[in-house]
Amino acid sequence: MSSKRLDTIADYTRHGYTLRVDCLKCRRVAIINLLELTLRCQERGWSKQIAAVERRLRYSQCGNRAVRLGPAFGPSPRASEQS
Ligand SMILES: [Zn+2]
Repeated sequence: MSSKRLDTIADYTRHGYTLRVDCLKCRRVAIINLLELTLRCQERGWSKQIAAVERRLRYSQCGNRAVRLGPAFGPSPRASEQS
């Protein structure tokens, strides 16, 4: 593995990754807009550490707070388009 670290939102941006959210409850997946997330963190004074964001995020489709964050590659997976 490389020495790439993905500890903060800025790390994702720097490496050209998008941020993927896995809902641990309904098993759906969403892609987060990093710019929007950065702005939201700045507005609310949140830490931009991924671990901190993971604790604060809520999965909008079902309201569940148990989410897992990770890097995503390419376009949004089809699972996020289910209603
Ligand atoms: Zn869910």
